[in-house]
Amino acid sequence: MSNPVLACDLGGTVIKLAIVQAGTVLARSDLPSHSEAGLRPRLSSIADSAHDLSAQADVKLSALAGVSIAIPGIVDHAQGRVRHINGKFLDAPDIDLIEWAHAEFGARAVLENDARAAAIGEWHHGAAQGCDDFVAVTLGTGIGVAAVCGGRVLRGPHGGAGILGGHLTVAIDGRRCSCGRIGCAEAEASTSALTELIQSMGASHDIQALDDVSVDYAKVFTLAESGDPAAIHVRDRSLAVWATLVLDLIHAYDPERVIVGGGIAAAPGILGAFQRALDNDPWSSDCGIDIVLSRLGTDAALLAAPSILAEASA
Ligand SMILES: [Zn+2]
Repeated sequence: MSNPVLACDLGGTVIKLAIVQAGTVLARSDLPSHSEAGLRPRLSSIADSAHDLSAQADVKLSALAGVSIAIPGIVDHAQGRVRHINGKFLDAPDIDLIEWAHAEFGARAVLENDARAAAIGEWHHGAAQGCDDFVAVTLGTGIGVAAVCGGRVLRGPHGGAGILGGHLTVAIDGRRCSCGRIGCAEAEASTSALTELIQSMGASHDIQALDDVSVDYAKVFTLAESGDPAAIHVRDRSLAVWATLVLDLIHAYDPERVIVGGGIAAAPGILGAFQRALDNDPWSSDCGIDIVLSRLGTDAALLAAPSILAEASA
């Protein structure tokens, strides 16, 4: 069995760290991200936590096969740097994370986009096992997408292939996205857009039941089930946005399977809505494409770490 690795998943809300070996998490811890303040102020806490984890797992850091760092930005995988990031950890492109990991842990490090890392985890240990053509969609605070085609993880010459699905346009006269463009799927239906989305309906709907800064899709779906007209409108429009996006991704990548994950994925009716959209699609309804839930949930990017490092050294 190959040596354990250190996995860092730098999420916008939570930083997840784990010592992982061959599909098993030996020890793990979560840290608050404070991503609005940048990544550099968090590096010493990440290093301290990694040292604690190595003691817990009884794994010497010098014995690590490497460090895998997943980050919500466009990553130059070959050069080991963050090329572009939006809204969180804004200083990441200026930090040499490969050098930092070497100095802290004496280990080589590999950077990967977080949605791509999650897809690699599902490929080797989760819902995409045995499938060499799939798209993974994560519906949550934002929308993460990654694609594996013909047994290859799509990265592209600039690191952007497959991962910008949340910023595909679903409404050319729609809402302004955090990325600056208009009508991105993430701006039209995601947890980060939800409060503004509801406020913008105030003139046409009674939004009293939804008018809460902490509103999330769980509440929207629950209120919709109980018949609240505004919640039904938000739910049905969001389902239509996500179904449109899933069909666009199917058209772009011609997958055998679509893996749906993230905090919203388990809401009632999501897979059924996507399946109905696929069944009515003139191009893909006869392809036998499976639409399934993620199996690894928020551990997917952590469990991917040994595979990411193995691929980088192959
Ligand atoms: Zn956008």
